[in-house]
Amino acid sequence: MTHHQVEAKGLPPLSLYVHFPWCVRKCPYCDFNSHALRGELPEAAYVQALLRDLALQGDGQPQRALQSIFLGGGTPSLFSPAGLSRLLDGVRAHWPLAGDAEITLEANPGTIERGRFADYRAAGITRVSLGAQSFDEAQLQRLGRIHAAADTRRAVEELHAAGLANFNIDLMYGLPQQSAAGALADIEAAIALRPAHVSHYQLTLEPGTVFAGRPPAGLPDSDLGADMQRLCQQRLAAAGFERYEVSAYALDGARCRHNLNYWRFGDYLGIGAGAHGKRSRLEGETLGIERTERQREPRRYLASLAASADAARPQCRAVALAERPFEFMMNALRLSEAFEASAFEARTGLQFALLQRPMERAWRRGLLERCGGGWRASPRGFDFLNDLLTEFLPEPPARAPPDRPDFAAGTGTWL
Ligand code: SF4
Repeated sequence: MTHHQVEAKGLPPLSLYVHFPWCVRKCPYCDFNSHALRGELPEAAYVQALLRDLALQGDGQPQRALQSIFLGGGTPSLFSPAGLSRLLDGVRAHWPLAGDAEITLEANPGTIERGRFADYRAAGITRVSLGAQSFDEAQLQRLGRIHAAADTRRAVEELHAAGLANFNIDLMYGLPQQSAAGALADIEAAIALRPAHVSHYQLTLEPGTVFAGRPPAGLPDSDLGADMQRLCQQRLAAAGFERYEVSAYALDGARCRHNLNYWRFGDYLGIGAGAHGKRSRLEGETLGIERTERQREPRRYLASLAASADAARPQCRAVALAERPFEFMMNALRLSEAFEASAFEARTGLQFALLQRPMERAWRRGLLERCGGGWRASPRGFDFLNDLLTEFLPEPPARAPPDRPDFAAGTGTWL
């Protein structure tokens, strides 16, 4: 066995994710790290903690210009334009930012006062993701949303007026008692608002949520859910929105660069309560990859960032070689674009030949197809993505092939 030499192509592009953990109230379907705000928003203290978090995570890291920043949550639009301006100025002072960096703000239509988007844009925001979810008042109530459809329409007017035409509308389908016509009506209402991007997610019952304990009546079955997805995709395509990822549709040139970097297995720093990060490092001839994680609970996060530098560093975990093919595939196969062998090798530090057996199996099952010089999920594979991904799960140690002992251990090299 020899070490696989990582090509000297440099490290993957780097993005920054910033998590804002508070919401006005918790939606019953939501399993994100979001907490109903009680009392006053600790805006100044949180911005200060975020900047310390970034400074600590930057220590000893190779500096690459940030390609994108995503302010997500939770409800980051609870933070004032002045607070986000302080944050973004602080980020720029710590870290080089690409000249054309995409800076996205997630916004809840229930938190947008007049003039607010213009101020966010002045603070440096270039793209907005608006959590509309539905335009049907009864559905918005069932989903526990704090806004009405009219709030979403008003927020979009504000976006256009502020010159923030590059915005996404988040929609859900498969809602309680929803028909295919109801799902299509939501898509129609979204298209009428002239977004550049639509994210279209099926409502799922996630463990630990209110809905998981008490599922709402009348959830569509999986056949109806699949019909809704197909019909909505067709309507979006007719309006010029290409499905470039399982749940993401964009006009030409409006794909979300930040999310694309995740799906292409790029690197990202994650700051804020519960934020995750992924970073790569060249260690001699091999590529080291580690994941970082922050305290989920906002008060604990704030307390940990007030501690000494050693105590305030994020938890880190090395990504073993055996885990990397699955991790790469879990992201890359969500995309409609093909990935090339060279991308797999550069991002994982492994030889593509390692994938031969699972790739062949998936291809024989009609779940994978060749496209140009690369590979992608076939239309069938796209519909049965979980099934396709199981082909790439690391083998359990007891069943590891005897000729690949290090595969099982996940610590040595495979090649
Ligand atoms: S507003 Fe978004 S992040 Fe907050 S609870 Fe609702 S779904 Fe979760």
